[in-house]
Amino acid sequence: MVAPTISEAMRNTSVADRSDVVVVGGGPAGISAAVSAARNGASVTLLERYPYLGGLASGGMVLVLDDMHNDTEVTVQGICMEMIDRMRAWGLCVTPPDAERMPGVRETDAMWRKWSRWGLFDFHTQSMPHPVCFSAAFDPDAYKRASYAMIAESGVKLRLHSWFSSAIVEDGRIKGVICETKEGRQAIMADVVIDATGDLDVAASAGAKFQESSFILTTVSRWGGVDTDRAEAFQFDEPERFAKLDHEAKRIIGGCWNYWWLKTPLPGIIWLNCPHMPKLSGMKVDDLTAAEFEGRGRMEKLMKFARENFPGFENAYVVDFAPQTGVRQTRMLEGEYVVTKEDVTSRRHFADTVCRGRDYYTPYRALLPVEVDQLLVAGRHYSATAQAQKSSREIPPCMAMGEAAGVAATVALNAGVTVRKADVRKIQTLMRAQGADPGDVPSANAKLMPEAAE
Ligand SMILES: Cc1cc2nc3c(=O)[nH]c(=O)nc-3n(C[C@H](O)[C@H](O)[C@H](O)COP(=O)(O)OP(=O)(O)OC[C@H]3O[C@@H](n4cnc5c(N)ncnc54)[C@H](O)[C@@H]3O)c2cc1C
Repeated sequence: MVAPTISEAMRNTSVADRSDVVVVGGGPAGISAAVSAARNGASVTLLERYPYLGGLASGGMVLVLDDMHNDTEVTVQGICMEMIDRMRAWGLCVTPPDAERMPGVRETDAMWRKWSRWGLFDFHTQSMPHPVCFSAAFDPDAYKRASYAMIAESGVKLRLHSWFSSAIVEDGRIKGVICETKEGRQAIMADVVIDATGDLDVAASAGAKFQESSFILTTVSRWGGVDTDRAEAFQFDEPERFAKLDHEAKRIIGGCWNYWWLKTPLPGIIWLNCPHMPKLSGMKVDDLTAAEFEGRGRMEKLMKFARENFPGFENAYVVDFAPQTGVRQTRMLEGEYVVTKEDVTSRRHFADTVCRGRDYYTPYRALLPVEVDQLLVAGRHYSATAQAQKSSREIPPCMAMGEAAGVAATVALNAGVTVRKADVRKIQTLMRAQGADPGDVPSANAKLMPEAAE
């Protein structure tokens, strides 16, 4: 059935700001894009709909930074690593030490027992126990705090409570964006816009081609009052009793990863990256509303069961449900290059690689819409197939993409060319100069594309 429509009156919108670069979305990709562009000399405005920065990493309470280490090296550096260092200095981020990630040590039972409930292991391997790898368990408020510090220090103009609603496009070129705010609609003008909304809101509004898909939704929560030492001892010392109870817990959850709870840097506080709710869209108001009720309902039942049955959980209580619904996949750009699952799994290397994840490479073309000029995208909605995105959308690679997009915007502005014509070599060089790994040098196991990328 086609929904009825109404006509809205024409209106004038005040121009609230103008910057060289406007970044829409203050999640992991957007923060990195804004900081990176500002550090390279651009005036930058960062717009965020919520009253905090961090996106899914803070508001979504997704509390492990992973997908940043292959067998031999840490592959995501730069702003992501700076974030980790800042949070670690406050005691609010935990990473396994180098010695415990060495071959011969990292795949032992002892390391599995020590690190698995932190979620700091390589879940891509088939072997059990999974080897420990470089990844970081962090506190969501620390992510916000570090984001604010980096944004303020780099001179980015931050506008919170600003909900992007439409792109301003003239002759195929984006000129700015319109936000809904408590003050009414506001226009923010820019030479370059970076879409870091995660749902491709800006590019879709600007007329860029995209595909829409969906993956599981999750209402992440945190519980307190958990004696994690006792809970872990029970798991490892009484594996058969544990397995039975764990099986029942998973039945109640109705869909989750193997570990339904993980430790956080706050003693006694765990995070629950569950339940899995498929068949709901992160783009539909009704589905997002239903997810809230469905997710909370399942977790209430789980809490009752855990308190009654699992050693260490007798005094557990709910600390909070994430204010931001756990949406993994919605709209994805169909850009100048669409990354495929095969590209990711075969570690295909591209001549225009500007960033990387665990052991895969992202070409600059995957950040560029075909139809709209002066627009870049960075984050989980980058130009990839639904299958490719599932294994390349973690927080660190999204931060790396944001960092590359921020650099690319300034390279183009300084050269007086459009972002489509930005010099990729220059982007790679500047990425390296600021401590990031642009992935321009493929590792030994990378597959080189037969033809050089444009
Ligand atoms: C439940 C769950 C578990 C996950 N587990 C892990 C994990 O363990 N480790 C890991 O590394 N990754 C994990 N991921 C993936 C990861 O969290 C995301 O892919 C990543 O956060 C994407 O970053 P982003 O910046 O692209 O988007 P987001 O984090 O979604 O940030 C987008 C930002 O844009 C803002 N925004 C959106 N629309 C608008 C608008 N119209 N106007 C203004 N602002 C807007 C949002 O408020 C948000 O701040 C998980 C994801 C989910 C949902």
